[in-house]
Amino acid sequence: MTSSPFKIPYGRQNISSEDIEAVVEVLKSDWLTQGPNIGTFEKAVAKRCRADYAIAVNSATAALHIACLALNVGPGDQVWTSPNTFVASANCARYCGAEIDFVDIDDDTLNMSIAALENKLAESASSGKLPKVVIPVHFAGQSCDMAAIKQLSLKYGFHIVEDASHAVGAEYKGSPVGSCEYSDITVFSFHPVKIITTGEGGLLLTNSETLQNRLLRLRSHGITRDPDFMQSAPIGDWDYHQVELGFNYRITDIQAVLGLSQLGKLDEFLLERQKIVRRYRRELADLPIKLQGEISDSRSANHLFVIRVLDSFGCTRRELFDLLRSNGIGVNVHYIPVHMQPYYQRLGFQTGDFPLAERYYSEAISLPVFAGLSHSDQDYVIALIKQEHSHRI
Ligand SMILES: *Cc1c(COP(=O)(O)O)cnc(C)c1O
Repeated sequence: MTSSPFKIPYGRQNISSEDIEAVVEVLKSDWLTQGPNIGTFEKAVAKRCRADYAIAVNSATAALHIACLALNVGPGDQVWTSPNTFVASANCARYCGAEIDFVDIDDDTLNMSIAALENKLAESASSGKLPKVVIPVHFAGQSCDMAAIKQLSLKYGFHIVEDASHAVGAEYKGSPVGSCEYSDITVFSFHPVKIITTGEGGLLLTNSETLQNRLLRLRSHGITRDPDFMQSAPIGDWDYHQVELGFNYRITDIQAVLGLSQLGKLDEFLLERQKIVRRYRRELADLPIKLQGEISDSRSANHLFVIRVLDSFGCTRRELFDLLRSNGIGVNVHYIPVHMQPYYQRLGFQTGDFPLAERYYSEAISLPVFAGLSHSDQDYVIALIKQEHSHRI
């Protein structure tokens, strides 16, 4: 069935026969791309997230790129994000020719530390190098403390783009992640390991009509057919104006209909992920491992379930990782801190720059969690971890 080398991967898509039928129907229709399902999908996600506008694109990476461009990030500007993320959260700033910097994580939530952000802003205010955009990443699906980040943005005057690639369906202080109550733009990913999938795909949410119009143009070559945005009155029905430099970041109708069909099962997926994570938390509670702290007024989408192998566990992270992998479990590590990547080291970052993210990384293992993970497969993962601990002490 699966080409994964592992009997149990750390994450995978959940595709139903309804998903397949929906895609087949689009393949038989007049539109493979730029068809009616894109708008329907965008409206459905916007409604679910209580945001005014949604713009679907072909990846979260593309979404992060045009989010930065729409906020006028360019050479000479600074963008800050968490080192505990996928490289795309930082690369978007580099695409725009801007400088990137990182804010170390909170050792409990594993999200960007508010205290570290506050300190770095205060220091940077005196040297005049404040960020134009801060990109908080909702690690493993749990929202950052957005109210605190919003407060700081008002004081220091930066924009906020939420990288909510892990957090589709998550909630924070009673509102859905994606409502943009505390940000300019929120970005989702629909890569197959994420909460819902379109194959490749991403989406931006915003409450600003100006940003929406800009994002729509940047998605498609910088072209507009709307007379309101054209340089001069259209000379005929064929006329369009390229008013700036954009890209082809469009999503297809085939992907959008898959997303729409998947969205219908989002609550089911979230519930299943929550049950899996609760079971892990219960079963692993007595072991010398550390888990991500849960924030009381939020609800995680549980994209990842990470254990931190403490010294007292009896074996190292590497030994436990290798043992699980050699038993067919596709465990993974999220994340190698971005500033430790060779590309970022060439920009001047060094190991030791963000010590909490680095220590966390040296201890972390992501266990399997996805809608469709069976009880018996989860039991097998739990049993191996417990066995390894008891053999070692
Ligand atoms: C997956 C991911 C991305 C990139 O998503 P794509 O849709 O694959 O481009 C960006 N940021 C984070 C935090 C992610 O996990």
